[in-house]
This record gives sequence, C-alpha cells and structure tokens, in this order.
Amino acid sequence: MPDRLKKYKEMRDFGETPEPAGGKPKRGKLPLFVIQKHHASRLHYDFRLEMEGVLKSWAVPKGPSYDPTVKRLAMMTEDHPYDYASFEGVIPAGNYGAGNVIIWDNGTWEFIEPGDDPVKALQQGKLTFRLYGKKMFGEWALVKIKGRSPKGNEWLLIKHRDKYANPNVDVTEVAPRSIISNLDVDEIGAENTWQSDRKATYGRRAPTLASRLAAEQQATKKPASRSSRSPGARSRGASAPSRSSRARSPRPTRPTGRRRLR
Ligand code: MN
Repeated sequence: MPDRLKKYKEMRDFGETPEPAGGKPKRGKLPLFVIQKHHASRLHYDFRLEMEGVLKSWAVPKGPSYDPTVKRLAMMTEDHPYDYASFEGVIPAGNYGAGNVIIWDNGTWEFIEPGDDPVKALQQGKLTFRLYGKKMFGEWALVKIKGRSPKGNEWLLIKHRDKYANPNVDVTEVAPRSIISNLDVDEIGAENTWQSDRKATYGRRAPTLASRLAAEQQATKKPASRSSRSPGARSRGASAPSRSSRARSPRPTRPTGRRRLR
C-alpha cells in the first residue's frame, strides 16, 4: 500500500510540532470532514475530506461561501493523517505552517457524484458531496481548474443551489470560532493543544515545545485543584469545554518536567 502520508511526514519534524503523525480511521457509517481555520503566514481554511484512509486536503484562503455564485479558490495540499481532524492548537514558530489552528467545523460527508467512486471522481477533478457539519450543510462541489497553474493544484469550492444556499450570510463572519473550544484562531495558545500519542516518533526529541509550554502554563497555576485530578486530566487545558471522547481521550503524552509516565 502506498504511503499517502510520505509528503506530510517529510514536511514536518514531530519532535518540534504538536501536529499528529498518523492515526487510523474509525469505522463509522460515513467518512468525516473537518475545516480548520489556520492563521499561518496568511489566514486560510483547511478543508479536509476523509478518503483512502487519509484526509484529502485543500487550503481555502477565503473559506467557504454559501452563495452559489461565489467560487472559492481551494489549493490542494498534501494528504494529512486521520488524526489531524482532531488537531487544534499551535504549530510552533520555525515549523511548516507555523501558527494557530482551530477546528472551525467538522462532521461527516457523503459522496453524490459523478459515478459511484469518490476516489475516481477526485482523480478526474470533480466531485459533489453533501456535508453534515455544525456550520456546513447541504451540497457542495470541488472542481479542479484545468491548465491554469504549473502545479495543477487549484480547485474551486462551490455551494450548490439547495435549501441551504444563501447569498446574504457570510458563514466565516457569523460563525468565526472553534466548535471545540469556542475560541477564535488568535485566542488559541499552546496550552489548548490537543496532542496525539505519536508512538512512531516517541522519544525522538522529548519533550516537545508544546508540552514544555503547557508545563510552564501549569506551573503558574495555583495548586489548589490539582490534588483530586489526574495529571492527564489537568493537562488538557482548564478553559476548554468537554469534547467528544475520541478527541479528548486522555492518552498519556510524553513526559514533561512535571509528569512521569505511569
Ligand atoms: Mn493550513
């Protein structure tokens, strides 16, 4: 089986960035989608569809529009690992894509057409699909722009005309925040970072910058509420509301100055 994440892994140092290195899809009824609002050198929205065990990804500079007459540029980027759908936090300075990331929307998606194979449709440069998110609903299309850029990675994200279409509402304006933490992208700090248990690269360069920052953050907090709670529970960030069990599962991460593996 081809390593669809080769490029993704080559672009990142998992000893430095808290971004996930892998992850296996859950066997749900429908594949998942996620849109991450990412304030890198420029703000953009990373639109990802689960397909072939990875997340097919597009960077959408202006984000989605519910106006069917608006075509939003979507630059296809490297496949991301499944666990990336749960990533929210800070990619440290000096790393690829450095900047803040929030989960702007997520849910499931359903292939509509053409044909009955979404992978083939993707290869042929056009697919339409239905989204079941918190902000994203109804039918959408991704259409590849032929022969415009040498890279050939330019697509358009277009809302189809259906009952959800609406030229008068800018969804990125009315609903700017994370559906996980309710923070906006510039309010996310390293202490809000969700980390996977990156077994494959564990120990390569522990602890990560993110966990060091998280430990510093904890060190400045008063110890009153620490006694009855596990270190794992504390490290998840007191300000964030609860998430789904998968996204929040308190897996032990690599040790920091204040924690030991148990
Ligand atoms: Mn991005």
